Amino acid sequence: MELITRGEWHAKKPTAAYTRLSSTRGVKIHYTGGKVPADLPEPGNHDRCLDLVRDIQRMHMAGGRGERYIDIGYNMVCCPHRHLFVGRGPHHLPAANGAGLNSEHYAVLALLGDSGFTEPNDDLLNALVDAIEYLREHGDAGDEVKGHRDGYETSCPGDPLYRWVREGAARP
Ligand SMILES: [Zn+2]
Ligand SMILES: [Zn+2]
Repeated sequence: MELITRGEWHAKKPTAAYTRLSSTRGVKIHYTGGKVPADLPEPGNHDRCLDLVRDIQRMHMAGGRGERYIDIGYNMVCCPHRHLFVGRGPHHLPAANGAGLNSEHYAVLALLGDSGFTEPNDDLLNALVDAIEYLREHGDAGDEVKGHRDGYETSCPGDPLYRWVREGAARP
């Protein structure tokens, strides 16, 4: 597991204090959707993952999801090189699951689209399991692993990743 701290991805500071979560029922899995370059998983392209995470933080903080978030909406972000980015981190309320659904589950994002790079590779799936284990160990996450679409009207996290979630979110 390769943890990328907020300092390492040059995160902006949150604009307000996080709301603390003592524990959750588990984790919800998300994808970026849209177009993610098909060659993102190639070994030399990891720098682009850092750009993507910064872009998502900028969009969330600029109000791209309807309101200005205090930070990136996700607790953790996983990339196809098996790196694990600290978003809001453990014990902090996320903003990605939908109104009323954020205190029950942490939010973990996979850098995966619905065009270009659309089928999760083994390193991405392992990074997701790393994130789930990290949030259990450091954030008192419970056993549930669900998709964003569970309880919320969205295609997220896309069919391939949702199938993996439904089959038990196991290591490949
Ligand atoms: Zn989502
Ligand atoms: Zn990467």
